Amino acid sequence: MAAAFESIESHEQAGAGEGRPPASCDSRKSARARRLLSRDIARTVMAATAGLAVVCTLLFALVFYVVVDRQAASDLSKECVSLAAGIDARSADAAQAAALLENAMMPADTRVTLIAEDGGVLFDSQADVAALDNHALRPEVIQAMETGEGEAGRYSATLNRETLYHSIRLDEGFVLRLAVSKPTVLGVLRSLALPCVAVLALAVAASFAAGWVVSRKIASELSVVDLDHPLENDAPHELMPLLERLADQKKSIDAQAAERRRFTANVSHELKTPLTVISGYAELIDRGIARPEDVVKFAGYIHGEAQHMKSMVDELLTLSRLDDAQAEGLKVDMDQRVSLPQAAAATVRRLASSAERCGVTLRLAVSDEAAKADAAVAGNARMIEEMARNLVENAIRYNEPGGSVDVAVLLDEDGAAKLRVSDTGVGIPADLREKVFERFFCVDESRSKETGGSGLGLAIVKHAAQLHGATVSVSANDPHGSVFEVRFPAQRRRIA
Ligand code: ADP
Repeated sequence: MAAAFESIESHEQAGAGEGRPPASCDSRKSARARRLLSRDIARTVMAATAGLAVVCTLLFALVFYVVVDRQAASDLSKECVSLAAGIDARSADAAQAAALLENAMMPADTRVTLIAEDGGVLFDSQADVAALDNHALRPEVIQAMETGEGEAGRYSATLNRETLYHSIRLDEGFVLRLAVSKPTVLGVLRSLALPCVAVLALAVAASFAAGWVVSRKIASELSVVDLDHPLENDAPHELMPLLERLADQKKSIDAQAAERRRFTANVSHELKTPLTVISGYAELIDRGIARPEDVVKFAGYIHGEAQHMKSMVDELLTLSRLDDAQAEGLKVDMDQRVSLPQAAAATVRRLASSAERCGVTLRLAVSDEAAKADAAVAGNARMIEEMARNLVENAIRYNEPGGSVDVAVLLDEDGAAKLRVSDTGVGIPADLREKVFERFFCVDESRSKETGGSGLGLAIVKHAAQLHGATVSVSANDPHGSVFEVRFPAQRRRIA
Protein backbone atom coordinates (compact mmCIF):
# COMPACT_ATOMS: atom_id res chain seq x y z
CA MET A 1 0.00 0.00 0.00
CA ALA A 2 2.94 2.30 0.65
CA ALA A 3 3.62 2.23 -3.09
CA ALA A 4 -0.03 2.87 -3.80
CA PHE A 5 0.32 6.52 -2.97
CA GLU A 6 3.79 7.20 -4.27
CA SER A 7 2.17 9.67 -6.61
CA ILE A 8 0.92 11.73 -3.67
CA GLU A 9 4.36 11.76 -2.09
CA SER A 10 6.17 12.70 -5.28
CA HIS A 11 3.65 15.45 -5.90
CA GLU A 12 4.21 16.82 -2.44
CA GLN A 13 7.95 16.77 -2.92
CA ALA A 14 7.62 18.50 -6.27
CA GLY A 15 5.51 21.18 -4.60
CA ALA A 16 8.16 21.68 -1.92
CA GLY A 17 10.91 21.84 -4.53
CA GLU A 18 9.24 24.68 -6.37
CA GLY A 19 9.97 26.83 -3.36
CA ARG A 20 6.38 28.02 -3.01
CA PRO A 21 6.02 30.37 -0.04
CA PRO A 22 4.09 28.92 2.87
CA ALA A 23 0.32 29.53 2.57
CA SER A 24 0.30 31.62 5.75
CA CYS A 25 2.58 34.22 4.10
CA ASP A 26 -0.11 35.07 1.52
CA SER A 27 -2.78 35.50 4.11
CA ARG A 28 -0.62 37.69 6.36
CA LYS A 29 -0.89 41.32 5.30
CA SER A 30 0.74 44.27 6.90
CA ALA A 31 -1.59 46.35 9.06
CA ARG A 32 -1.23 49.20 6.61
CA ALA A 33 -2.24 47.10 3.59
CA ARG A 34 -5.48 46.04 5.30
CA ARG A 35 -8.71 47.80 4.49
CA LEU A 36 -10.03 50.01 7.26
CA LEU A 37 -13.62 48.97 7.92
CA SER A 38 -14.39 52.26 9.65
CA ARG A 39 -13.11 54.24 6.67
CA ASP A 40 -15.12 52.09 4.23
CA ILE A 41 -18.33 52.50 6.23
CA ALA A 42 -17.77 56.25 6.75
CA ARG A 43 -17.13 56.73 3.00
CA THR A 44 -20.23 54.77 2.03
CA VAL A 45 -22.46 56.67 4.45
CA MET A 46 -20.91 59.92 3.26
CA ALA A 47 -21.50 59.13 -0.42
CA ALA A 48 -25.09 58.12 0.30
CA THR A 49 -25.73 61.31 2.27
CA ALA A 50 -24.13 63.49 -0.41
CA GLY A 51 -26.28 61.83 -3.11
CA LEU A 52 -29.40 62.24 -1.00
CA ALA A 53 -28.56 65.87 -0.22
CA VAL A 54 -28.12 66.67 -3.95
CA VAL A 55 -31.44 65.03 -4.83
CA CYS A 56 -33.17 66.83 -1.94
CA THR A 57 -31.69 70.18 -3.03
CA LEU A 58 -32.97 69.71 -6.58
CA LEU A 59 -36.44 68.72 -5.36
CA PHE A 60 -36.49 71.60 -2.92
CA ALA A 61 -35.43 74.04 -5.67
CA LEU A 62 -38.25 72.74 -7.89
CA VAL A 63 -40.88 73.18 -5.17
CA PHE A 64 -39.41 76.53 -4.24
CA TYR A 65 -39.52 77.60 -7.90
CA VAL A 66 -43.26 76.77 -8.15
CA VAL A 67 -43.95 78.75 -4.96
CA VAL A 68 -41.88 81.73 -6.10
CA ASP A 69 -43.55 81.66 -9.52
CA ARG A 70 -47.05 81.71 -8.00
CA GLN A 71 -46.07 84.43 -5.55
CA ALA A 72 -44.69 86.59 -8.38
CA ALA A 73 -47.92 86.17 -10.39
CA SER A 74 -50.03 87.05 -7.35
CA ASP A 75 -47.87 90.12 -6.48
CA LEU A 76 -48.06 91.29 -10.10
CA SER A 77 -51.84 90.92 -10.11
CA LYS A 78 -52.16 92.95 -6.87
CA GLU A 79 -49.89 95.70 -8.19
CA CYS A 80 -51.81 95.85 -11.46
CA VAL A 81 -55.18 96.05 -9.65
CA SER A 82 -54.02 98.86 -7.40
CA LEU A 83 -52.44 100.85 -10.27
CA ALA A 84 -55.58 100.44 -12.42
CA ALA A 85 -57.76 101.62 -9.50
CA GLY A 86 -55.56 104.74 -9.18
CA ILE A 87 -55.93 105.62 -12.87
CA ASP A 88 -59.66 104.84 -12.94
CA ALA A 89 -60.17 107.08 -9.88
CA ARG A 90 -58.93 110.00 -11.91
CA SER A 91 -60.98 108.84 -14.98
CA ALA A 92 -58.03 109.85 -17.10
CA ASP A 93 -57.83 109.99 -20.89
CA ALA A 94 -54.89 108.43 -22.73
CA ALA A 95 -52.51 111.35 -22.23
CA GLN A 96 -53.39 111.74 -18.55
CA ALA A 97 -53.12 108.04 -17.96
CA ALA A 98 -49.70 107.95 -19.64
CA ALA A 99 -48.57 110.91 -17.51
CA LEU A 100 -49.82 109.21 -14.35
CA LEU A 101 -47.97 106.02 -15.26
CA GLU A 102 -44.81 108.00 -16.00
CA ASN A 103 -44.81 109.34 -12.45
CA ALA A 104 -46.08 106.19 -10.71
CA MET A 105 -43.75 104.76 -8.07
CA MET A 106 -43.15 101.29 -9.51
CA PRO A 107 -40.44 98.71 -8.72
CA ALA A 108 -37.55 99.12 -11.18
CA ASP A 109 -37.97 95.67 -12.72
CA THR A 110 -41.70 96.09 -13.45
CA ARG A 111 -42.57 97.01 -17.01
CA VAL A 112 -45.76 99.06 -17.39
CA THR A 113 -47.57 99.24 -20.72
CA LEU A 114 -50.75 101.10 -21.68
CA ILE A 115 -52.53 99.69 -24.70
CA ALA A 116 -55.35 101.37 -26.67
CA GLU A 117 -58.54 99.52 -27.59
CA ASP A 118 -57.17 98.93 -31.11
CA GLY A 119 -54.00 97.37 -29.71
CA GLY A 120 -51.76 100.38 -30.28
CA VAL A 121 -49.24 100.96 -27.50
CA LEU A 122 -49.83 104.35 -25.82
CA PHE A 123 -47.11 104.07 -23.14
CA ASP A 124 -44.31 101.66 -22.18
CA SER A 125 -41.96 102.17 -19.24
CA GLN A 126 -39.11 100.10 -20.71
CA ALA A 127 -39.44 100.39 -24.50
CA ASP A 128 -39.79 103.00 -27.19
CA VAL A 129 -43.51 103.16 -27.99
CA ALA A 130 -42.82 103.89 -31.66
CA ALA A 131 -40.81 100.70 -32.00
CA LEU A 132 -43.50 98.46 -30.52
CA ASP A 133 -45.91 96.60 -32.76
CA ASN A 134 -49.66 96.32 -32.25
CA HIS A 135 -50.52 94.42 -29.02
CA ALA A 136 -54.15 93.56 -29.89
CA LEU A 137 -53.33 89.88 -30.35
CA ARG A 138 -51.37 89.40 -27.12
CA PRO A 139 -53.27 86.69 -25.14
CA GLU A 140 -53.38 88.70 -21.89
CA VAL A 141 -54.66 91.77 -23.83
CA ILE A 142 -57.39 89.75 -25.60
CA GLN A 143 -58.42 88.25 -22.20
CA ALA A 144 -58.55 91.68 -20.54
CA MET A 145 -60.60 93.13 -23.41
CA GLU A 146 -63.08 90.25 -23.12
CA THR A 147 -63.27 89.64 -19.36
CA GLY A 148 -61.73 92.71 -17.79
CA GLU A 149 -58.58 90.92 -16.58
CA GLY A 150 -55.99 88.63 -18.21
CA GLU A 151 -52.64 87.02 -17.52
CA ALA A 152 -49.94 85.10 -19.42
CA GLY A 153 -46.39 83.87 -19.18
CA ARG A 154 -44.05 83.69 -22.21
CA TYR A 155 -40.76 84.75 -23.67
CA SER A 156 -40.62 88.50 -24.28
CA ALA A 157 -38.75 89.59 -27.38
CA THR A 158 -38.66 93.14 -26.04
CA LEU A 159 -37.13 92.21 -22.68
CA ASN A 160 -35.25 89.16 -23.94
CA ARG A 161 -36.40 86.91 -21.08
CA GLU A 162 -39.26 84.76 -19.80
CA THR A 163 -41.91 87.18 -18.61
CA LEU A 164 -45.11 87.16 -16.52
CA TYR A 165 -47.90 89.50 -17.70
CA HIS A 166 -51.03 90.76 -15.95
CA SER A 167 -53.55 93.10 -17.69
CA ILE A 168 -56.66 94.98 -16.60
CA ARG A 169 -59.12 96.88 -18.78
CA LEU A 170 -59.52 100.44 -17.50
CA ASP A 171 -62.84 102.32 -17.40
CA GLU A 172 -61.81 104.40 -20.43
CA GLY A 173 -61.38 101.20 -22.49
CA PHE A 174 -57.55 101.12 -22.44
CA VAL A 175 -55.68 98.08 -21.16
CA LEU A 176 -53.10 98.49 -18.42
CA ARG A 177 -50.48 95.71 -18.51
CA LEU A 178 -47.74 95.01 -15.96
CA ALA A 179 -44.86 92.62 -16.65
CA VAL A 180 -42.03 91.18 -14.55
CA SER A 181 -39.33 88.62 -15.18
CA LYS A 182 -40.59 85.10 -14.65
CA PRO A 183 -38.45 83.21 -12.06
CA THR A 184 -36.38 80.28 -13.51
CA VAL A 185 -35.33 77.00 -11.84
CA LEU A 186 -31.69 77.92 -12.45
CA GLY A 187 -32.26 81.35 -10.94
CA VAL A 188 -33.86 79.79 -7.88
CA LEU A 189 -31.01 77.29 -7.63
CA ARG A 190 -28.47 80.10 -7.89
CA SER A 191 -30.12 81.99 -5.09
CA LEU A 192 -30.13 78.81 -2.97
CA ALA A 193 -26.57 77.80 -3.86
CA LEU A 194 -24.76 79.15 -0.84
CA PRO A 195 -27.07 77.79 1.90
CA CYS A 196 -27.33 74.49 0.00
CA VAL A 197 -23.57 74.06 -0.28
CA ALA A 198 -23.22 74.89 3.42
CA VAL A 199 -25.90 72.32 4.38
CA LEU A 200 -24.38 69.75 2.02
CA ALA A 201 -20.94 70.20 3.52
CA LEU A 202 -22.35 69.91 7.02
CA ALA A 203 -24.37 66.81 6.12
CA VAL A 204 -21.36 65.13 4.50
CA ALA A 205 -19.12 65.91 7.45
CA ALA A 206 -21.77 64.74 9.94
CA SER A 207 -22.41 61.52 8.02
CA PHE A 208 -18.68 60.76 7.75
CA ALA A 209 -18.37 61.24 11.50
CA ALA A 210 -21.50 59.17 12.16
CA GLY A 211 -20.22 56.38 9.87
CA TRP A 212 -16.88 56.42 11.64
CA VAL A 213 -18.47 56.27 15.10
CA VAL A 214 -20.86 53.46 14.08
CA SER A 215 -18.08 51.38 12.54
CA ARG A 216 -15.91 51.89 15.63
CA LYS A 217 -18.80 50.66 17.72
CA ILE A 218 -19.19 47.58 15.50
CA ALA A 219 -15.45 46.95 15.68
CA SER A 220 -15.44 47.28 19.46
CA GLU A 221 -18.43 44.89 19.73
CA LEU A 222 -16.45 42.38 17.66
CA SER A 223 -13.22 42.83 19.57
CA VAL A 224 -14.77 41.87 22.92
CA VAL A 225 -16.39 38.68 21.61
CA ASP A 226 -15.26 35.67 23.67
CA LEU A 227 -14.23 33.26 20.91
CA ASP A 228 -13.73 30.40 23.36
CA HIS A 229 -17.42 30.49 24.33
CA PRO A 230 -19.13 32.01 21.25
CA LEU A 231 -22.71 31.37 22.38
CA GLU A 232 -22.21 32.80 25.86
CA ASN A 233 -21.59 36.33 24.55
CA ASP A 234 -24.14 39.04 25.17
CA ALA A 235 -23.78 39.98 21.50
CA PRO A 236 -26.18 41.90 19.24
CA HIS A 237 -28.70 39.86 17.27
CA GLU A 238 -26.87 40.45 13.95
CA LEU A 239 -23.72 38.72 15.23
CA MET A 240 -25.51 35.54 16.26
CA PRO A 241 -25.21 33.70 12.88
CA LEU A 242 -21.46 34.32 12.91
CA LEU A 243 -21.16 33.21 16.54
CA GLU A 244 -23.24 30.11 15.85
CA ARG A 245 -20.89 29.19 13.01
CA LEU A 246 -17.90 29.78 15.25
CA ALA A 247 -19.48 27.56 17.92
CA ASP A 248 -19.99 24.80 15.33
CA GLN A 249 -16.43 25.13 14.13
CA LYS A 250 -15.11 25.05 17.67
CA LYS A 251 -17.13 21.93 18.38
CA SER A 252 -15.71 20.17 15.35
CA ILE A 253 -12.15 21.34 16.16
CA ASP A 254 -12.56 20.04 19.72
CA ALA A 255 -13.91 16.75 18.37
CA GLN A 256 -10.97 16.50 15.97
CA ALA A 257 -8.53 17.19 18.80
CA ALA A 258 -10.15 14.50 20.95
CA GLU A 259 -10.05 12.09 17.97
CA ARG A 260 -6.38 12.90 17.44
CA ARG A 261 -5.59 12.27 21.12
CA ARG A 262 -7.47 8.97 21.00
CA PHE A 263 -5.66 8.03 17.79
CA THR A 264 -2.23 8.88 19.25
CA ALA A 265 -3.02 6.87 22.39
CA ASN A 266 -4.12 3.92 20.23
CA VAL A 267 -1.03 4.11 18.03
CA SER A 268 1.26 4.26 21.07
CA HIS A 269 -0.55 1.35 22.66
CA GLU A 270 -0.53 -0.77 19.48
CA LEU A 271 3.17 -0.13 18.88
CA LYS A 272 4.15 -0.59 22.51
CA THR A 273 2.82 -4.15 22.72
CA PRO A 274 5.01 -5.64 19.94
CA LEU A 275 7.94 -3.51 21.10
CA THR A 276 7.64 -4.93 24.63
CA VAL A 277 7.67 -8.46 23.20
CA ILE A 278 10.63 -7.68 20.92
CA SER A 279 12.53 -5.99 23.73
CA GLY A 280 11.79 -8.88 26.15
CA TYR A 281 13.05 -11.64 23.83
CA ALA A 282 15.98 -9.54 22.65
CA GLU A 283 16.99 -8.97 26.30
CA LEU A 284 16.88 -12.71 27.04
CA ILE A 285 19.18 -13.35 24.08
CA ASP A 286 21.37 -10.34 24.87
CA ARG A 287 21.97 -11.38 28.49
CA GLY A 288 22.65 -14.95 27.48
CA ILE A 289 19.69 -16.18 29.56
CA ALA A 290 17.98 -17.78 26.55
CA ARG A 291 18.92 -21.37 25.98
CA PRO A 292 20.75 -21.85 22.66
CA GLU A 293 17.96 -24.09 21.36
CA ASP A 294 15.42 -21.28 22.09
CA VAL A 295 17.33 -18.52 20.34
CA VAL A 296 16.00 -19.37 16.88
CA LYS A 297 12.44 -19.61 18.25
CA PHE A 298 12.83 -16.20 19.98
CA ALA A 299 14.26 -14.67 16.82
CA GLY A 300 11.12 -15.94 15.05
CA TYR A 301 8.95 -14.18 17.65
CA ILE A 302 10.97 -11.00 17.24
CA HIS A 303 10.70 -11.22 13.47
CA GLY A 304 6.93 -11.82 13.64
CA GLU A 305 6.36 -8.84 15.93
CA ALA A 306 8.61 -6.64 13.79
CA GLN A 307 6.64 -7.69 10.69
CA HIS A 308 3.42 -6.84 12.51
CA MET A 309 4.81 -3.43 13.46
CA LYS A 310 5.98 -2.82 9.92
CA SER A 311 2.58 -3.61 8.42
CA MET A 312 0.91 -1.38 11.02
CA VAL A 313 3.27 1.51 10.24
CA ASP A 314 2.60 0.98 6.50
CA GLU A 315 -1.14 1.16 7.13
CA LEU A 316 -0.76 4.24 9.31
CA LEU A 317 1.20 5.93 6.53
CA THR A 318 -1.50 4.94 4.04
CA LEU A 319 -4.20 6.43 6.25
CA SER A 320 -2.24 9.59 6.78
CA ARG A 321 -1.75 9.97 3.00
CA LEU A 322 -5.45 9.40 2.44
CA ASP A 323 -6.12 12.14 5.02
CA ASP A 324 -3.72 14.44 3.20
CA ALA A 325 -5.27 13.61 -0.18
CA GLN A 326 -8.67 14.55 1.21
CA ALA A 327 -7.49 17.69 2.97
CA GLU A 328 -5.45 18.99 0.04
CA GLY A 329 -8.11 18.45 -2.60
CA LEU A 330 -6.97 15.18 -4.11
CA LYS A 331 -3.52 15.62 -5.55
CA VAL A 332 -3.56 11.90 -6.26
CA ASP A 333 -4.65 10.86 -9.76
CA MET A 334 -8.32 9.97 -9.42
CA ASP A 335 -9.15 9.91 -13.12
CA GLN A 336 -7.81 6.52 -14.08
CA ARG A 337 -10.19 4.11 -15.79
CA VAL A 338 -10.30 1.07 -13.54
CA SER A 339 -11.98 -2.14 -14.66
CA LEU A 340 -13.64 -3.52 -11.53
CA PRO A 341 -13.80 -7.14 -12.89
CA GLN A 342 -10.06 -7.00 -13.62
CA ALA A 343 -9.21 -5.48 -10.24
CA ALA A 344 -11.28 -8.18 -8.46
CA ALA A 345 -9.67 -10.95 -10.53
CA ALA A 346 -6.17 -9.67 -9.72
CA THR A 347 -7.02 -9.61 -5.98
CA VAL A 348 -8.45 -13.12 -6.04
CA ARG A 349 -5.36 -14.35 -7.88
CA ARG A 350 -3.02 -12.78 -5.33
CA LEU A 351 -4.88 -14.14 -2.31
CA ALA A 352 -5.63 -17.64 -3.69
CA SER A 353 -2.66 -19.26 -1.91
CA SER A 354 -3.51 -17.55 1.40
CA ALA A 355 -7.13 -18.84 1.13
CA GLU A 356 -5.83 -22.30 0.39
CA ARG A 357 -3.56 -22.25 3.48
CA CYS A 358 -6.60 -21.40 5.62
CA GLY A 359 -8.74 -24.09 3.98
CA VAL A 360 -11.12 -21.48 2.56
CA THR A 361 -12.64 -21.65 -0.93
CA LEU A 362 -12.20 -18.38 -2.81
CA ARG A 363 -14.52 -17.73 -5.81
CA LEU A 364 -14.98 -14.83 -8.22
CA ALA A 365 -18.23 -14.10 -10.09
CA VAL A 366 -18.76 -11.24 -12.52
CA SER A 367 -22.40 -10.63 -13.46
CA ASP A 368 -23.26 -10.71 -17.18
CA GLU A 369 -24.10 -6.99 -17.21
CA ALA A 370 -20.85 -6.12 -15.42
CA ALA A 371 -18.83 -8.32 -17.77
CA LYS A 372 -20.53 -6.91 -20.85
CA ALA A 373 -19.96 -3.32 -19.79
CA ASP A 374 -16.55 -4.21 -18.27
CA ALA A 375 -17.89 -2.32 -15.20
CA ALA A 376 -15.33 0.46 -15.17
CA VAL A 377 -15.05 3.13 -12.50
CA ALA A 378 -13.06 6.33 -12.49
CA GLY A 379 -10.54 6.54 -9.70
CA ASN A 380 -7.16 5.42 -8.52
CA ALA A 381 -6.39 1.84 -9.59
CA ARG A 382 -4.07 1.07 -6.67
CA MET A 383 -6.53 2.43 -4.13
CA ILE A 384 -9.33 0.31 -5.58
CA GLU A 385 -7.14 -2.83 -5.56
CA GLU A 386 -6.13 -2.00 -1.97
CA MET A 387 -9.81 -1.82 -0.97
CA ALA A 388 -10.52 -5.17 -2.62
CA ARG A 389 -7.42 -6.75 -1.03
CA ASN A 390 -8.40 -5.60 2.49
CA LEU A 391 -11.96 -6.90 2.14
CA VAL A 392 -10.96 -10.30 0.69
CA GLU A 393 -8.09 -10.69 3.18
CA ASN A 394 -10.51 -10.07 6.09
CA ALA A 395 -13.05 -12.48 4.61
CA ILE A 396 -10.33 -15.18 4.62
CA ARG A 397 -8.85 -14.28 8.02
CA TYR A 398 -12.17 -14.17 9.87
CA ASN A 399 -13.33 -17.45 8.31
CA GLU A 400 -13.25 -21.10 9.37
CA PRO A 401 -11.50 -23.96 7.61
CA GLY A 402 -13.99 -25.37 5.10
CA GLY A 403 -15.62 -21.97 4.70
CA SER A 404 -15.85 -19.90 1.54
CA VAL A 405 -15.40 -16.39 0.22
CA ASP A 406 -17.38 -15.10 -2.77
CA VAL A 407 -16.16 -12.03 -4.59
CA ALA A 408 -18.75 -10.57 -6.97
CA VAL A 409 -18.73 -7.65 -9.41
CA LEU A 410 -22.23 -6.39 -10.20
CA LEU A 411 -23.87 -3.60 -12.14
CA ASP A 412 -26.96 -1.87 -10.76
CA GLU A 413 -29.83 -0.84 -13.00
CA ASP A 414 -28.79 2.78 -12.65
CA GLY A 415 -25.30 1.85 -13.89
CA ALA A 416 -23.56 1.86 -10.49
CA ALA A 417 -20.75 -0.71 -10.29
CA LYS A 418 -20.51 -2.78 -7.07
CA LEU A 419 -17.87 -4.96 -5.49
CA ARG A 420 -19.35 -7.47 -3.06
CA VAL A 421 -17.30 -9.75 -0.77
CA SER A 422 -19.34 -12.39 1.12
CA ASP A 423 -17.89 -14.90 3.54
CA THR A 424 -19.15 -17.75 5.67
CA GLY A 425 -16.91 -16.78 8.59
CA VAL A 426 -17.43 -15.71 12.18
CA GLY A 427 -19.61 -12.75 11.29
CA ILE A 428 -19.89 -9.41 13.11
CA PRO A 429 -22.48 -8.71 15.84
CA ALA A 430 -25.14 -6.33 14.47
CA ASP A 431 -24.43 -3.58 17.02
CA LEU A 432 -20.72 -3.49 16.10
CA ARG A 433 -21.11 -3.47 12.31
CA GLU A 434 -20.70 0.30 11.92
CA LYS A 435 -17.83 0.41 14.41
CA VAL A 436 -15.58 -1.93 12.40
CA PHE A 437 -14.72 1.01 10.11
CA GLU A 438 -13.23 3.00 13.02
CA ARG A 439 -9.48 3.12 13.34
CA PHE A 440 -8.03 0.38 15.62
CA PHE A 441 -11.42 -1.20 16.25
CA CYS A 442 -11.35 -5.00 16.59
CA VAL A 443 -14.35 -7.17 17.40
CA ASP A 444 -12.14 -9.89 18.79
CA GLU A 445 -8.72 -8.48 19.59
CA SER A 446 -7.02 -11.85 20.11
CA ARG A 447 -8.23 -13.21 16.78
CA SER A 448 -7.23 -10.02 15.01
CA LYS A 449 -3.72 -10.21 16.56
CA GLU A 450 -3.40 -13.88 15.78
CA THR A 451 -3.98 -13.20 12.11
CA GLY A 452 -1.73 -10.14 12.02
CA GLY A 453 -4.50 -7.52 12.08
CA SER A 454 -4.04 -3.98 13.25
CA GLY A 455 -7.61 -2.64 13.16
CA LEU A 456 -6.77 -0.25 10.31
CA GLY A 457 -7.76 -2.20 7.17
CA LEU A 458 -11.44 -1.26 7.09
CA ALA A 459 -10.66 2.37 8.05
CA ILE A 460 -8.49 2.47 4.91
CA VAL A 461 -11.32 0.90 2.84
CA LYS A 462 -13.83 3.47 4.08
CA HIS A 463 -11.49 6.40 3.53
CA ALA A 464 -10.52 5.29 0.02
CA ALA A 465 -14.20 4.72 -0.81
CA GLN A 466 -15.02 8.27 0.32
CA LEU A 467 -12.34 9.63 -1.98
CA HIS A 468 -14.07 7.79 -4.85
CA GLY A 469 -17.51 9.04 -3.86
CA ALA A 470 -18.36 5.39 -3.14
CA THR A 471 -20.18 3.93 -0.12
CA VAL A 472 -19.23 0.85 1.91
CA SER A 473 -21.78 -1.19 3.78
CA VAL A 474 -21.69 -4.35 5.84
CA SER A 475 -24.47 -6.83 6.55
CA ALA A 476 -24.85 -10.37 7.83
CA ASN A 477 -24.50 -13.32 5.48
CA ASP A 478 -26.98 -16.17 5.52
CA PRO A 479 -26.69 -18.44 7.54
CA HIS A 480 -23.49 -16.94 8.99
CA GLY A 481 -20.63 -14.68 8.01
CA SER A 482 -20.54 -11.15 6.63
CA VAL A 483 -21.17 -9.31 3.38
CA PHE A 484 -19.17 -6.18 2.56
CA GLU A 485 -20.26 -4.10 -0.42
CA VAL A 486 -18.60 -1.09 -2.07
CA ARG A 487 -20.97 0.84 -4.34
CA PHE A 488 -19.37 3.28 -6.78
CA PRO A 489 -21.34 6.27 -8.04
CA ALA A 490 -23.16 5.64 -11.33
CA GLN A 491 -21.80 8.65 -13.20
CA ARG A 492 -18.23 7.60 -12.57
CA ARG A 493 -18.72 4.70 -14.96
CA ARG A 494 -19.19 6.84 -18.04
CA ILE A 495 -15.52 7.20 -18.73
CA ALA A 496 -13.37 6.76 -21.81
P1 ADP B 1 -7.95 -5.89 11.36
O1 ADP B 1 -6.59 -5.58 10.90
O2 ADP B 1 -8.08 -6.05 12.83
O3 ADP B 1 -8.59 -6.97 10.59
P2 ADP B 1 -9.88 -4.23 10.06
O4 ADP B 1 -10.05 -2.76 10.11
O5 ADP B 1 -9.64 -4.82 8.72
O6 ADP B 1 -8.75 -4.55 11.10
O7 ADP B 1 -11.17 -4.86 10.68
C1 ADP B 1 -11.67 -4.37 11.90
C2 ADP B 1 -12.37 -5.46 12.65
O8 ADP B 1 -13.57 -5.84 11.97
C3 ADP B 1 -11.56 -6.72 12.72
O9 ADP B 1 -10.74 -6.70 13.86
C4 ADP B 1 -12.63 -7.80 12.82
O10 ADP B 1 -12.98 -7.95 14.17
C5 ADP B 1 -13.80 -7.23 12.08
N1 ADP B 1 -13.93 -7.78 10.70
C6 ADP B 1 -13.49 -7.23 9.55
N2 ADP B 1 -13.81 -8.00 8.49
C7 ADP B 1 -14.50 -9.03 8.96
C8 ADP B 1 -15.11 -10.17 8.38
N3 ADP B 1 -15.10 -10.40 7.05
N4 ADP B 1 -15.73 -11.06 9.19
C9 ADP B 1 -15.76 -10.85 10.52
N5 ADP B 1 -15.21 -9.82 11.15
C10 ADP B 1 -14.57 -8.90 10.40
